[in-house]
Amino acid sequence: MSYTLEGATGPWEVVIGLEVHAQITSQAKLFSGAATEFGAEPNSQVSFVDAGFPGMLPVINGECVAQAVRTGLGLNAKVNLWSRFDRKNYFYADLPQGYQISQFEFPVIGTGEIEITLADGSVKNIGITRLHLEQDAGKSLHDQHPSKSYIDLNRSGVALMEIVSEPDLRSPEEAGAYLTKLRQILRYLGTCDGNMEQGSLRADVNVSVRKAGEGFRTRCEVKNVNSIRYVMQAVEAEARRQIEVWEEGGEVVQETRLFDTSRGVTRSMRSKEDAHDYRYFPDPDLPPLVIEAAWVEQLKAALPELPDARRARYVGEYGLTPYDAHVLTLEKETAAFYETVAKGRDPKVAANWVTGDFFAGLNRTGRSIANSPVSAGDLGALLDLLKDNTLSGKLAKEVLEVMVDTGRPPAEIVEQRGMRQVTDTGAIEAVIDDVMARNADKVAEYRGGKDKLFGFFVGQTMKAMQGKGNPTLVNDLLKRKLG
Ligand code: ADP
Ligand code: MG
Repeated sequence: MSYTLEGATGPWEVVIGLEVHAQITSQAKLFSGAATEFGAEPNSQVSFVDAGFPGMLPVINGECVAQAVRTGLGLNAKVNLWSRFDRKNYFYADLPQGYQISQFEFPVIGTGEIEITLADGSVKNIGITRLHLEQDAGKSLHDQHPSKSYIDLNRSGVALMEIVSEPDLRSPEEAGAYLTKLRQILRYLGTCDGNMEQGSLRADVNVSVRKAGEGFRTRCEVKNVNSIRYVMQAVEAEARRQIEVWEEGGEVVQETRLFDTSRGVTRSMRSKEDAHDYRYFPDPDLPPLVIEAAWVEQLKAALPELPDARRARYVGEYGLTPYDAHVLTLEKETAAFYETVAKGRDPKVAANWVTGDFFAGLNRTGRSIANSPVSAGDLGALLDLLKDNTLSGKLAKEVLEVMVDTGRPPAEIVEQRGMRQVTDTGAIEAVIDDVMARNADKVAEYRGGKDKLFGFFVGQTMKAMQGKGNPTLVNDLLKRKLG
């Protein structure tokens, strides 16, 4: 069943296309050597080029181009060996050059696609229209002084990739899944850190609505949405607004809008009439960007394994369920952690422990894989203690809790706390004899046919052994002695 919104005149379909700005992971800016570190003192990472000083010449940063090409390859997109930089002219206080260098007519990356998976397990391909390189602008600070605005040019000239999707998305869920998948691919590639709180990834959300079977209607663009949840909320709020406009006999006009996160509505920012005429023209300071096919092949050969391939490998090679494979490959760091745990061990057992008790431990302590108190090596060592019967499953869970709380290796915890499971049959038998002697009435009942009492004897024996009896041995020996 496809997603629709109900209006007074019946169901409406929603059409969405995203323009995503992704900050390229790079030591230096797109056309200057200034640093790009987040959170630096204002105006401490600004070269003369970034400050728009007269006579300064931009010089392309090859690493930024490589990052764009890697991203294009990761999106199964066409790499254009010839592309060009244009000037997009406008005046703004945080744009000292008076223009942004961007790629308008000839982007470095052409059409590609992303596969998204929805909650019901269905899969859909979303078209990528293009990816182009451009500079970021500076930042106006309006909250530092009661009557003055300040400008921070640290971001001025930072390399961005603008990644434009086809209007293929049909619901808030699809828009969220697309952005999630795009961010995952960028992180796997190492071409953008995907950090939306720091503004490394922001989305312009284009929305229109239509009746089933119609062509596209006019769209509005909701600018600069900075979380996946807000993208999904903005789609729904904007679609509902447009439905109301159409149903009241009005007409949706193409305009740029902003999403008010506190009120959950979009409001107009500028209409098409005052849309800028950017007077694009080829930047005379920069020759066309020409890259060699052999270099593209080199970059392709060096690409890391991407999420889809890794997930398929976890199912095919490790025999994991599609769900576990999905969860373990969401973040590159999680996948690497899991593979260290699984190496030389049973991959399914490893998957169960990582996604089960280990994730629960991280959750309980508010940690993530990146600052996990338990290393992959230590979790692996715990599984070894389980395998060689030093620990029972129950004891292993307890040891893992202590590992999460203390960060200490499992062998040390087992030694110091005497958590080793008891596998000495003589010792277990002695406990069982004692339990049976103290519960002679129950032994008689059991032998008289009350099978359900078996659990009682297991419980008593384990209790007497402080939970350390090997469960299989306890069961076997009890059966023998009671039988
Ligand atoms: P522009 O260059 O003016 O921003 P584009 O045609 O490049 O316009 O489209 C920008 C974005 O808008 C793309 O992501 C595209 O998928 C999306 N888009 C285009 N038409 C529609 C529509 N009718 N409804 C929703 N999104 C649309
Ligand atoms: Mg646009």
